[in-house]
Amino acid sequence: MNKTEEEIIQNEERLKRLCDKAKELNEEIDEAKKLKAEAHDVKETLKLRTENVKRILKEATEKDTIERIQAEVREFKIKRSKQWDEYYMKIACLAALRSKDPSTPVGACIVDTKSYQIVGIGYNSMPSVKGRSNNDKIFSWKGLSENASQKLKEKKDKDSKLKYPFVVHAAVNAITNRTKDKLDGCTIYVTLKPDEDCARAIQLAGIKEVVYCMVTRKEEREKESDIKTAETFFGANTIETRKLPISNKDGVAKKLNDRIEEAKELHRKQHLKQQGVEQERETKQGESEGEPKQEGEPEESEQEGETEQQKTKQKEAEKEFDDINMPYKNAITWEEFFMGIAILSRKKPRQYDRKPEDAVGACIVSPSNQVMAVGYSGYPEDMKLQDILQEEDQRGYIAHAEYKAIIGGPIVRGCTLYVTSYPCNVCAKLIVQSGISEIVYDKDAGDINARKILRCCLTRECEVRKEFKEILYK
Ligand SMILES: [Zn+2]
Repeated sequence: MNKTEEEIIQNEERLKRLCDKAKELNEEIDEAKKLKAEAHDVKETLKLRTENVKRILKEATEKDTIERIQAEVREFKIKRSKQWDEYYMKIACLAALRSKDPSTPVGACIVDTKSYQIVGIGYNSMPSVKGRSNNDKIFSWKGLSENASQKLKEKKDKDSKLKYPFVVHAAVNAITNRTKDKLDGCTIYVTLKPDEDCARAIQLAGIKEVVYCMVTRKEEREKESDIKTAETFFGANTIETRKLPISNKDGVAKKLNDRIEEAKELHRKQHLKQQGVEQERETKQGESEGEPKQEGEPEESEQEGETEQQKTKQKEAEKEFDDINMPYKNAITWEEFFMGIAILSRKKPRQYDRKPEDAVGACIVSPSNQVMAVGYSGYPEDMKLQDILQEEDQRGYIAHAEYKAIIGGPIVRGCTLYVTSYPCNVCAKLIVQSGISEIVYDKDAGDINARKILRCCLTRECEVRKEFKEILYK
């Protein structure tokens, strides 16, 4: 082998090695490319995952915040609606105090919960008679006592000597006294669970919620058949009913409770007396049957004497029954009723920022004694307060009671305004413009300008029984 040949072989070997090396490198390059692609994929996946995690985290926090806020709103609504519930129920109790029913005074108050407006007030009464104010002389208020027999109870609605066929229920009167054409979606507050008669009217009127308390009568009433029918009727028409636990330890609820308890006591005593008379008669009858009549005895006259005595006792018992069933004498007057509504309305919810003595209530009444509108001084009901409460003087945001009643309710031409304190100059202008023809006020805080304006309307001071006023202002 010469040198050239040797070189060629060496070169070939070198070339082979180089080729092998190149092949190896290519493989490595391919591997690297694969790895790079994989790395890219992983990076992309990680990026996506991070974004997902970020989004989930963000959503979770937002959800927590939303849930927390929702819970707060719920709590606030419950608290606030409880205060509103009590206010409206007190108005219903006050209405019951106007009733002449000697044993079962009932009151009702209808509320448009969207606008917080009272749109109907009523109490149980006898049908009104054209041209006569005292319809209680035409219809009897006589009722059956709780101890009456089942037989008597069954025919009570047919007996024209009793009140039952004639009395108009509180809920029905509140509906007929409405100040809106339609009561769709409204809530009714009643001092007694409605019976089937009221249920029909409530459903037809479009009322969607019934709130009742049992100040007028106790729980056992719930077992009676007309109440059960009403319950089924409400259920089938998706009308919500709920019982409001209201204390009868003070205020108007106590006054109503006292009146009912007093009547119950009178009925109980009368029932015992009547029972005594009946028992005595039975015993006497038994005795005379047991003793055969003998000739020559002056028995007849004696027996007649005893019968006379029995008759007198029976008459006495009957008179007492009539007496306790007379129309209730101490029912509050119209003036006490309307000013009472105004006074109770001072304490409506959302007055927490003001001194209670500064709060004012108003009630507007038509010439036919229909409550047209009720107002209370304060901020608009749904106003968010956090911003303005930081300001030093918030008076500019408060609307006066009479202002709210006139603007928020129906047209009030020819009506009477009951207001707890003498109107201010701004309200005075509105009162005159609205066509109100008389103002009845309780406390005189009037300014000269308001007086000058209101000279066009009649103004007079209100007379409310002192003890009654005290429970209202408490
Ligand atoms: Zn004013």
